[in-house]
Amino acid sequence: MRPNSSLPGEFELIARYFAPLAKGFPGAFGLLDDAAVIAPPPGHELVAKTDAIVGGIHFLHDDPPDRIARKALRVNLSDLAAKGAVPRAYMLDIMLPGTVTEEWIAAFARGLAQDQDEYGVHLMGGDTDSTPGPAAIAIMAFGDVAAGRLIRRCGARAGDTLFVTGTIGDAALGLDVLRGALPDLDANAAGVLVDRYRLPRPRVALGPRLVGLASAALDVSDGLLADLGHLCEASGLAALVEAPRVPLSSAARAALAAGPARIATVLAGGDDYEILFTAAPKAMGKLAELSRTLEVPITAIGRMTPPAGDGAGVTVLDGSRKPLAFERGGWTHF
Ligand code: ADP
Ligand code: MG
Repeated sequence: MRPNSSLPGEFELIARYFAPLAKGFPGAFGLLDDAAVIAPPPGHELVAKTDAIVGGIHFLHDDPPDRIARKALRVNLSDLAAKGAVPRAYMLDIMLPGTVTEEWIAAFARGLAQDQDEYGVHLMGGDTDSTPGPAAIAIMAFGDVAAGRLIRRCGARAGDTLFVTGTIGDAALGLDVLRGALPDLDANAAGVLVDRYRLPRPRVALGPRLVGLASAALDVSDGLLADLGHLCEASGLAALVEAPRVPLSSAARAALAAGPARIATVLAGGDDYEILFTAAPKAMGKLAELSRTLEVPITAIGRMTPPAGDGAGVTVLDGSRKPLAFERGGWTHF
């Protein structure tokens, strides 16, 4: 379908901007056929994940198109990484309003090209349509994992150590910066946090290396505590988090020093796109080695425990080992 009258026709757009992104992936047939073909290597399974973003909800209409494209792709790659899958290819459904220009599409495609280089994935197909509503972009990413080895949310055992990659809370604090809620922060720290919000860094290199080490995993998109709650529920366990061990960037530490109550944003805010996983304590040595070779921080933040009688999944302890409770939008002591 022709996106709108000011643009080249659909097939011209596909040939000009999207077909170059399919080069190097034979199953895409140059985006000149009706469908694409993808197969996992022998002994592997395909892993699939899709995520859609909508203008006005997940991004702003005047956000740079290359960043919109990269974020749309990266949130999918993050899910694959958390499952231990190596990403291979993706499909792109793009619905564009009449206000979109050819320059917008060119920049969008440049963003995808940049991330294809960074993550080793290819475009294998999609659909291009016009819409009377805001722009909407759906990406479906495919990866592979050794058969039966996908890292589920449900595999944690009581006594497992709880780990997280990178640092937590930067993106949520970055969103607060954009809302003007952190006026005390210096420009450098504010810039670091906003960047973490705008462009996730999915743990694509690390994820597949967790196969055989992690008993359960998921990526942190809803917020550390909410996502840990999901892992607890799937595994039928509870978890204990020691707040002082949650890894923070120096920018986040500065924000917390000026406003300790912001720990609520750090622990409950979203968009980190780090991997939260559990592993037997004896995996610690191998994880430390992985962390060194891949230069990805991996930090133990707590442990998995038998399910609590009161049904509480996640307990957070402060520096004096007193539980923190979520109350009226902030964290307070019991
Ligand atoms: P059909 O008419 O059968 O729906 P299309 O004309 O929509 O097929 O698409 C033609 C080819 O171009 C297909 O291979 C399709 O996967 C590809 N394609 C269309 N839009 C996109 C896009 N936004 N990104 C990548 N490939 C696309
Ligand atoms: Mg079509």
